[in-house]
Amino acid sequence: MGSYSKTSAGSAKTAIFRIAALFSLLVAAWVVIQSGIPFALVLGLKIERVTWIQTLGGSLFIISAGWLLYLLVHRTLSAIASAEEGMKLRDRAIESSVSAICITDNLAPDNPIVYVNPAFERITGYSSQEVVGRNPRLLQGTDLAQPELLTIRSALQDGRPCHVVLRNYRKDGSMYWSELNIAPVRNDAGTVTHHIGVHSDITDAKTHHEELARQANHDSLTGLPNRNLLWDRIDRACVRTQRYGDFAAVAFLDLDNFKVVNDSLGHSLGDHLLRAVAARLESSLRATDTVARLGGDEFVLVFCDHKGEQSVSGELQRIVESFSQPFSVDGRDVFITASVGVALFPQDAKDPESLMKSAELAMYRAKESGRNAYQLYTAEMQTRVNERLALESKLRRALERGEFSLHYQPLVDLRSNRVFGCEALLRWNQPDLGMVGPAQFIPLAEETGLIVPIGEWVLRTACRQSKAWQDAGLPAVSMAVNISARQFREKNLLQVVTKILGETGLDPTQLEFEVTESMIMHDAQNAIADLQAFRDMGVKLSVDDFGTGYSSLSYLKRFPVDRLKIDQSFVRDITTDADDAAIAQAVITLAHTMNLRVIAEGVETLEQLAFLRRNQCDEIQGYLFGKPMPADEFGKLLESGRTLPP
Ligand code: C2E
Ligand code: MG
Ligand code: MG
Repeated sequence: MGSYSKTSAGSAKTAIFRIAALFSLLVAAWVVIQSGIPFALVLGLKIERVTWIQTLGGSLFIISAGWLLYLLVHRTLSAIASAEEGMKLRDRAIESSVSAICITDNLAPDNPIVYVNPAFERITGYSSQEVVGRNPRLLQGTDLAQPELLTIRSALQDGRPCHVVLRNYRKDGSMYWSELNIAPVRNDAGTVTHHIGVHSDITDAKTHHEELARQANHDSLTGLPNRNLLWDRIDRACVRTQRYGDFAAVAFLDLDNFKVVNDSLGHSLGDHLLRAVAARLESSLRATDTVARLGGDEFVLVFCDHKGEQSVSGELQRIVESFSQPFSVDGRDVFITASVGVALFPQDAKDPESLMKSAELAMYRAKESGRNAYQLYTAEMQTRVNERLALESKLRRALERGEFSLHYQPLVDLRSNRVFGCEALLRWNQPDLGMVGPAQFIPLAEETGLIVPIGEWVLRTACRQSKAWQDAGLPAVSMAVNISARQFREKNLLQVVTKILGETGLDPTQLEFEVTESMIMHDAQNAIADLQAFRDMGVKLSVDDFGTGYSSLSYLKRFPVDRLKIDQSFVRDITTDADDAAIAQAVITLAHTMNLRVIAEGVETLEQLAFLRRNQCDEIQGYLFGKPMPADEFGKLLESGRTLPP
């Protein structure tokens, strides 16, 4: 570079060449960067003379200009080629799309079709020639009242895209559901020149969707609306009522003893029966009313536009009466009745949820008052529920607060006239309510499961007391303890009993369990293993309230029973009512035939006693000999050795 500055100094010509060379070098460098050709060696050249520079500058200038030109031409040609390639690709993509594509000319009158792709031809059955030049509404045939068409029209007018689902018709006239997206196509000036419509046949998906929706809203067994749809119908009935000022009613219908029918007919016939009931209910309602199945044997009826209680009552009377005809189930006639509870909107409840609750409450009342009837909701029913709730919360605390005690009622043998045992009976001394009888709280304790801890307390207290009397030198007597069906459902009853016997040291042969007849009939399957284990331990078993349920003798024979207790409802009128007398006699005979002992409950008079003695009853329990009494009193009774006068 040093020799170059010496030779060229002062020469204008040389300066021009120098600038040209510099410019050429820059262009060459740009070409190198752009084209990637290793032109860099040019920069490494050692330039000695101006002529060199002149020659080199000139040649570099020509080479650079040539490259520049080449690059420009090359770039332009590739851009044209790639634009053409892109067009072809888009064409091929449109042609192979599985969605139908249809382009219309927005500037021509009536928006004619200018292009359809093969998928359009496939889906609609029309060829391109048949549709080009026509308006796409040919796909809706004569079904032009679809509101979606208005949506499309207004979107097209506003130049907006739109999305609709509508009914289209193929060339052969068959209908399909089309999901359509339309978008405006604008030119450089922003004018909408065309529209592109893309649609698919979604008939299968829609049918599937509708089936799912149907399943979600209908009961699969009967096809009736299910709980989901029911709520919607109740809502609507209430809204309607508010608008027209009439009444809506909700009726809660529960079949009576369906479990028994289901168990005896078998579940498949039980299902048939439910379907037959559903069909009958449906046919006895007006088209504006609804019948839904909640599940199991529970149905709900929704009535609209009623004038009030009277007109609803008439309707319900008809429905309850419709159950007097048998249901034909697999060729046989089956009789079943129903209990119905009804609540009216707006008089009984202010919202759908409380309307249902009130109707259900009334249904329970219908059940309590003898079934096969309907019952209108009254405010007093709710008061009772509230009282029960209050009682429940008190009952929950009773055990820990030590509010329970046991009374003991003597059981007397009619041969020796001596006390051979006692029955432990639960008493609740509630601070606010005073003495609450077991009839008032045992059912509640059973329902809430509280009977389980309470029953355990009863058993422990009774066993401990029995042992205490023996330890005090009193004669050993058997201790009868009532056990609820609910307690047998607890998996660990056997363990609990074994533990309590161990803890208290009571001889198991002095313990006796009283279970009700209905427990033997309905829950005994689950209890039989426990019952057998108790029998093996030496614990005895009595069937309480015998005669009030529906005992089957074969059932009775399968259980390790020792004693039947004739229910006090038969004993009460034993001397005046021939039927009661006959039942008592039959129970005594039955017990003896089966080698069981038999005791009569609720004996209050000498006449009753005489009757029972005459009919060979083995034992009695009742106010005649002794009421249930506190432990110390019963201890004194044992000590006194008092007997029944012969
Ligand atoms: P239950 O087992 O049938 O008990 C006999 C009931 O008859 C007792 O009523 C007793 O006081 C009453 N009674 C006895 N002799 C006479 C009589 O001569 N005349 C009249 N009118 N009644 C008599 P209580 O104590 O009110 O018990 C009622 C029911 O409550 C019992 O009937 C039993 O089912 C249940 N219960 C009582 N204590 C318990 C318990 O600890 N556990 C369970 N699960 N239930 C119990
Ligand atoms: Mg009892
Ligand atoms: Mg009883």
